[in-house]
Amino acid sequence: MNRLTRTMMIGRLLKPLEDGGLSLLGTRANIVAVFVDVFRQKLMEEELGYKKASSIIYNVGQFTGQQAWNLIAKKKGMEKRMPLKKLFEYNLGQSEFIGRGKLILQLFNLKEKIFVLHLTSSFAKEYKRLFGNSKNCVDHIYRGMAAAFGKAIFKEPCLCIETKCIAKGNEICEFIVKPTKKFKLKKKEKDLFLMESMPSFKELGAKKEPYA
Ligand SMILES: [Zn+2]
Repeated sequence: MNRLTRTMMIGRLLKPLEDGGLSLLGTRANIVAVFVDVFRQKLMEEELGYKKASSIIYNVGQFTGQQAWNLIAKKKGMEKRMPLKKLFEYNLGQSEFIGRGKLILQLFNLKEKIFVLHLTSSFAKEYKRLFGNSKNCVDHIYRGMAAAFGKAIFKEPCLCIETKCIAKGNEICEFIVKPTKKFKLKKKEKDLFLMESMPSFKELGAKKEPYA
């Protein structure tokens, strides 16, 4: 997608509100520099430990992915009138509009229940710029989002592992998504901490789902 098309689409998606706020796809949004997200993640890792911090961020990613899918697929009725792969690619395209990076679907196999994504992650680029090469992959928010998309597509709980990360010095970030039970035990155990059950939005006291 070229920059002019993106500029026009961003103009259509973001609307100024009377009270000084912004609306993105009908919900309140704001524009935040990526270094703020990087700082938050680093602080959480430092204060809570790598596993706990990653798990919380992964959970937030899952929630975000689930909300994005609900908004586009269900609320706009696209789940009924669009082939699943096309709908998925449409969802992935939204990533560019909100500045997270370009997402490319490398592999999609509905029968085998697996997909592979490549991402030019803005977050990983900023992480590397500010902290140098990381020894771990850093895009837990994206892993959670991809896992939520996997669950919506394959209709069972999915896990996402990040096999390459720009923050580690790779050219691209790579994510593999499959149903959790399809991962070999060793690999699964390594990332199992991400699946830690956490309170839902409503259990935390929210009166409704954001896009309900
Ligand atoms: Zn990454």
